[in-house]
Parts: sequence; C-alpha cells; structure tokens
Amino acid sequence: MNIGEKALKARSVYIHLPFCKSICPYCDFASYANKSAEMKATYLAALKTEIRAVGELLGNIFCNGGAESASEFTIDTVFFGGGTPSIHSAKEIEEILNVLKEYVVFSDDVEINLEANPGTVDLEKLQAFKDIGINRLSIGAQTFNQDILSKLARGHTVEETFEIIDLIKKVNFKSWSFDLIYGLPHQSLDDWKSTLELALEKGSPHLSAYALSIEPITPFGSIYGSPEHPDLAGEEALAEMYEVCNQMLKEKGLNRYEVSNWAKDGHESRHNLCYWKADEYLAFGLSAHGYLRGYRFAHTRNIEEYIRLFTQPVDIIQKALGTGTIYEDYKFIGKKEALEEEIMLGLRLSTGLEKRNEILNLLNREKINTLISKGFILEYPDRFTLSEKGYFLSNGVISYILAG
Ligand code: SF4
Repeated sequence: MNIGEKALKARSVYIHLPFCKSICPYCDFASYANKSAEMKATYLAALKTEIRAVGELLGNIFCNGGAESASEFTIDTVFFGGGTPSIHSAKEIEEILNVLKEYVVFSDDVEINLEANPGTVDLEKLQAFKDIGINRLSIGAQTFNQDILSKLARGHTVEETFEIIDLIKKVNFKSWSFDLIYGLPHQSLDDWKSTLELALEKGSPHLSAYALSIEPITPFGSIYGSPEHPDLAGEEALAEMYEVCNQMLKEKGLNRYEVSNWAKDGHESRHNLCYWKADEYLAFGLSAHGYLRGYRFAHTRNIEEYIRLFTQPVDIIQKALGTGTIYEDYKFIGKKEALEEEIMLGLRLSTGLEKRNEILNLLNREKINTLISKGFILEYPDRFTLSEKGYFLSNGVISYILAG
C-alpha cells in the first residue's frame, strides 16, 4: 500500500468468511464445506492477522499525514460476505469486529451487514448478532418454490426461510434483504411471480434479484453447458421475469436503485452503493477484492495459500502489503480507467451518470446518440440514465459504450 499525503477515502470494509454447510452446484464463489473446526479457527486467526497488519499500516499513514491517530479513519459500512457468515458464532464475528475497532472508529450510524442463510440461526443466535452490532441481514432465500430450491441443493427449505423471517421480525433488525435468483432450471414465469409475491408478503424492505449465471467450472456448468439448454429460460423469458419483478416491486413501494436491487426508502444497501459509486474500500479475507489509495487488489481464492500468507511474521506481511506482492491481483487504476469504471457503474444506478466534462470527453457522442435513438438510454440536462428497456440489457449497453 503506497503511503501518500492525502487522507484515506475508504469508508467501507468487506470481510470474507468462506465456510458453508454444503456447496451449491451453481456457486463459483470462494466457498468451502466440510472443513474442520481447526481449519476454521486457523482461517479466522489469519484473517485477524491481516486486519492487524493493514490496520498498523493505516496508523502509519495517519501519523505520516499529520493526523492525531488512526482512529480518525471512520468506517460507515462493514459487510460480512461469503460463504455463509451466519454459520459462525456471534462471538467469532464480534472478535473480528473488535480487531477492526483497534484501528478504525465506526460512525454513529454504521451499517453492519451479515449474509445469513436459512437453517443456520435460531432466535438466540440472531439476538446475539444484533447485540454485537449487526444491524442488517442479507437472507439467501433464492426461491420460495420448494421443488426448485431442492434442485439448488442449498441445504435449507422454504419453511426455514419463513422461520428466519419470523425470527428477524422478533429480534427487530433495522433492515434486511432477500437475495433471489431468477432463470433457475425449470422455473416458469408463474413460479417467479409466486416467489416475488411471497417475498413481498413477508415484508422484505430490500430485494436483490439476479439472473442465474451458469459458470463453466461448477456442476451446473457441466449439466447445463450453454444458456440455450431447454431447462433454462431463454433471453426473452428472462427479460419478462426481470420486467415483472420491477413492476411488482414498484407497486409495493420498493424502488429500483441499481439494475438488480430494489428498496423501500432508507433501506438501500449503503455498503453496495460504495461499490457502485466506485468509492474506495478495505477488504479482508480469502478472495476479497478491495480498492485502496488508487489500487484495486484481489486476494488468492486458495484457502491454504491465504492461511500461509497471513501466518507469516507481521513485518514480512506488511512488506508484501506495501509492494502489493501479497495479492493475486494488484493494479493501479489510472484516471481514464477510473472514469470508465464510473461510467460502467454509474449507469447501473437509477441516479445515472453525471454529465461532467471529464465523463463527456470520454464518451463517444455518436454511440450515445445511437443508444438514445434506439431507446436504451435517456438523456437529461445533467445526466444519462438507462431506459426501462436499457436496464435489462445494461451489460450490453455499457459494453457498447466502452468498446474501443
Ligand atoms: S451458500 Fe452461497 S457461498 Fe455457499 S455454496 Fe451456496 S451459493 Fe456458494
């Protein structure tokens, strides 16, 4: 990490906890099932060592920059992702938070999100999560159709999803979200509508909905091979599912604020907004990706390698952090690339892309005019946004804008 004069901009922290009850056949995240308690403990120790090593460097940056202490580094959001972070005890999560707090301060309204899967918590555990400061839960529901859920082999039932919602309400979490997937094998439009109806009936104040992505290295990759597989929804059906989702959620007061995310006012994920606004953030743990002092970095996906790296003496770790050699990827993002990221991410937000001069200079006006005339992009005096039609095709629209 290069040490410079200006204050750090990062206000968010991502922490990766890779352990799951079982591995879902479509998953290509860095996740592990059936690891021993010893391996989990070793991983958590390595993770805390990483936080300490980076934290001490941050302290040095502040001292060099003339700030009174590292605690001037204020954090607004923390996100525990995975994996299935909810399989950990509240004590394990609290210990990670406590290490973090040795180096930073949490803002008064810090958002601390934890990904939780049905079937991994009871009332006592949820209450304990709340007591240690977790105030937002992302529930990996995926679908409310039991037949389809069974084929996803997620190791939980629809009944257990309902149970976790009841518990969340009892414990009175400040906010929570359903993660759903559409375009699942054998899923019809009516199945998808039923899932959305149930999600709304359960009162979810936030919902993320992503189309199933078939990744070649997963078991689903071998089974379903190509997106044209007859058991999968085609492009047209997916577009219809997306449109229905937006309509149904809008009618119930959940507004789309990013291509795949809807929320009631005040329930937007502040952590994810940090990514989408291309803000800098700290990231710790296996496969974690971060953005700090102009550098984007990514950790190894290999758990043994991660543990090896972060059980070395701290001075060696810090030296490797300083040069970036401890990361699998480590790249300085220049001005042009940062603006391209801003275009790519900004257009995905309902607030759109601001028409600042440096952005306008980078955009090909001819291409933008083509997209406007074809109805994919809307132009306002101060910004561009995706149109209704443009939202579903956002990846294609953005690739077209950014291509050569
Ligand atoms: S629970 Fe999530 S992280 Fe774990 S295997 Fe399933 S999809 Fe992957």
